[in-house]
Amino acid sequence: MSTETFSFKSEAKQLLNLMIHSLYSTKDIFLRELISNASDALDKLRFESLTDKSILPEGDLKVQVYTLGGEGSQDSNGSRRLVISDNGIGMSREEMINNLGTIAQSGTREFISKLSESKENQSGEAVESLIGQFGVGFYSSFIVAEKVVVHSRKAGSDEAWCWTSEGDGEFTLEASDKETAGTEITLFLRDSDEDDALDDFTDEWTLRNTIKRYSDFVQYPIELEVKKSKPVVAKEGEDDEEVKNKEPEPYWEWEQANSMKAIWKRSPDEVSDEEYNEFYKHISKAWDEPADRFRFKVEGAIEFTGLLFVPSSAPQNLHYRDSKHGLQLYANRVMIKENCEEILPTWLRFMKGVVESPDISLNVSRELLQQDRHIKTIKKSVTNKTLKHLKSILKDNREDYTKVWETFGEVLKESVADWEQGKKIQPLFLFKSSKEEGYTTLDEYIERMGEDQDKIYYITGESVEAIERSPHLEAFKSKDIEVIYMDQPIDEWMMGSFFEYESKSLQSISQGDVELGSEEERQAAEEERKAAQEEAGDLLGHIKGSLDEYIKEVRLSNRLTDSPACLVSENGGMTPQMERMMKQMGQEIPSSKRILELNPKHELFTKLKDLFEADQESPKLNHFAHLVYGQALIAEGSPLTEPVAFNQALISLMAQ
Ligand code: ADP
Repeated sequence: MSTETFSFKSEAKQLLNLMIHSLYSTKDIFLRELISNASDALDKLRFESLTDKSILPEGDLKVQVYTLGGEGSQDSNGSRRLVISDNGIGMSREEMINNLGTIAQSGTREFISKLSESKENQSGEAVESLIGQFGVGFYSSFIVAEKVVVHSRKAGSDEAWCWTSEGDGEFTLEASDKETAGTEITLFLRDSDEDDALDDFTDEWTLRNTIKRYSDFVQYPIELEVKKSKPVVAKEGEDDEEVKNKEPEPYWEWEQANSMKAIWKRSPDEVSDEEYNEFYKHISKAWDEPADRFRFKVEGAIEFTGLLFVPSSAPQNLHYRDSKHGLQLYANRVMIKENCEEILPTWLRFMKGVVESPDISLNVSRELLQQDRHIKTIKKSVTNKTLKHLKSILKDNREDYTKVWETFGEVLKESVADWEQGKKIQPLFLFKSSKEEGYTTLDEYIERMGEDQDKIYYITGESVEAIERSPHLEAFKSKDIEVIYMDQPIDEWMMGSFFEYESKSLQSISQGDVELGSEEERQAAEEERKAAQEEAGDLLGHIKGSLDEYIKEVRLSNRLTDSPACLVSENGGMTPQMERMMKQMGQEIPSSKRILELNPKHELFTKLKDLFEADQESPKLNHFAHLVYGQALIAEGSPLTEPVAFNQALISLMAQ
């Protein structure tokens, strides 16, 4: 029979071009696509065989992968080829024309327009990630092949057809001598190219890994033909030297390359802990066991199942915002996306596991994942389920939860910037505090609050030790008011967006005014302070004059009991730790001046007052001002801003 030539629809041409030229690091997805098609064809055959047993093949339903022309191939003649064959439903002549020559799915058209758009406006990387998120189907063969030949026989049919294309806009059809039902796709491989990240797909290791990566849980065996060698044995009369020089004799064997074990699909009581742990190690490439796991199944408008793990250790790059997400998205056992950031918020990126939904099958939806309505619903639900589970660990096993918090708490704190879902995790935050030995939740803090207390007090600092030395804590300790310790680097940043919990405002004790005690006590204390402040007005003005460069205001304090002085920021102002952090990050910010508060009940203040009354012009006053300021910095763990002046003041006072 003659050969007929056909043209691709124009979109197909466009897609081919884009695909070949824009994909960089994920070229291997073509194999996932072809194996997924083969697996669909096997599904279809199995379904049809329910009514017509005669179409079943003699052996098992399976996918076979082998190579030709390569080093490890059984037939090493000719150009390098990769063959993917299945004994599934196959295609008729009409189906080959329609399925392999046109783009039926409307989603594909949309994909192409998105792709062209992003190619013009964005980097190559963006284009690649776009393709990576789609199933690009059969056409992806041309990413690695310069020519593709498809032999297919529809199950139950008495004819077979051969489709050939070089991806140049045309394909040909002719009769094929394929004897059994199913489809056999031969890819004439482009030269492998390290610079272009094009692997050699005749290489056993590459094939095995690619199959494992994307198609491990496909429910049919994927057999890979591998080269083995027979052990060399000595024949009679051969000496050792001769045996050593003998080439081992090769033979080829089919080896199953996928595990087929989709354990998230098996009934929970059928799966052992060991199997779960094994699976966890496989998908997360971890060496240790997970801290915890949970499963869920959602039925309704959108169906999906999940198997999620809480890891017991953090990966090294966890704190980079662009560190990888740990969930894999599957549709019908075929992986759609590894490190899928569309189904959990970034502050849960450390979670590992699998989410599978038949509703986002490769064949059904080809819209962008993050814009997909189903994906949005899934994300919300997976997030809620994860939080619910973490909550149950906190409730049932505080010790375990504490470990999770110590490992991932800093990531969870990033949630304060998530206006959509962030609030839900706040009851799970743990903090050290001035009253609790271990950690406290904010709810537990609120429960311990006294009747007059209406705010949640906290203090930030570089470490618990530094915080506990802070003069700011004194009044709170003496009044027995609990203060939350924020000692992690992220806390400064976090408190920039975390203002309220359970309608109680969060108040830094080193910022603004503090008003402790009952309404009457507050008023009395404030009046007393004001009177003292007025009385000492000239002295305070004098000290302010000495420290004008560093200090915004000098005032008397209500928050000190033992220390002579402390520095406070205005409400909403930047704390010195934050300033230092930002400077370390290379940001240029002006140092903001703080308020120096003096303890009117301290002996030092009385001495200063005496000195001032005796001689307002005494140079000692200036020295004392610098000393008091310096010691307030030291007390809170900050470096001296004016070490020279501090030193001179110290020497001169010591000399007297
Ligand atoms: P999709 O799989 O998303 O439909 P593809 O471009 O991968 O898109 O494939 C187009 C169609 O070609 C499939 O829907 C299927 O009908 C047919 N097809 C592809 N591969 C095979 C195969 N191995 N066996 C039978 N039919 C196939």
